[in-house]
Amino acid sequence: MQSKRYAVTGGIGSGKSTVCAILAKKGYPVFSCDEISRELWQDGAYRRALARLFPACTKGGEVEKKALAAYVFADPRRLARLNAYTHPIIMEELLRRMEGHAVSFAEVPLLFEAGFETRFDGVIAVRREEALRLDAAAARDGASREEIRLRMRSQFDPTRYEEKNCLIAENNGTREELERCVDRLLATLGVPAPCGRGA
Ligand code: ADP
Repeated sequence: MQSKRYAVTGGIGSGKSTVCAILAKKGYPVFSCDEISRELWQDGAYRRALARLFPACTKGGEVEKKALAAYVFADPRRLARLNAYTHPIIMEELLRRMEGHAVSFAEVPLLFEAGFETRFDGVIAVRREEALRLDAAAARDGASREEIRLRMRSQFDPTRYEEKNCLIAENNGTREELERCVDRLLATLGVPAPCGRGA
């Protein structure tokens, strides 16, 4: 069986999770790097490795998630060091989970930053105006607009998606419009309907 793996990417607050929820509702298998990352944080060996890499972010020998986030987002070199350790682990686990599905999708926030686009058969990039993203992401993550803006600056520039030969979901309207956009993109990709869901 030939299997097709698609990545869903986009900046913080662009609507990646929303697109993935739409795909999951349609019955497609959908996986998430953030979910894998959260699971890895439960793993002692992973946390110990992070504590060794970032001793400045530990308390009583344990790495602290919030302290680590503040530390790495303050300096791109620190962020690069964190990503160099975590990204390959997360990506291998993601691809393992996608194995064996005829068609599957994965939410991959830092796809282009990590250079992982070649591991997929196609990419859907979700794009939303910055003003719309700021408030929603700040409210969702309990962060300030400034913190969200800082994270945005460290992410791939959405005006460059065209260069990357991906399908773009413009998400500046309602959720219903986004759903219709996802339908159009699925038709463009020519992916079959999920098992048992008919055409
Ligand atoms: P991401 O996963 O890219 O960070 P989300 O899918 O979580 O983004 O969307 C960020 C916030 O914006 C969420 O609260 C989501 O419900 C909201 N949102 C996304 N797209 C729309 C839309 N088209 N209309 C209204 N709210 C939206």
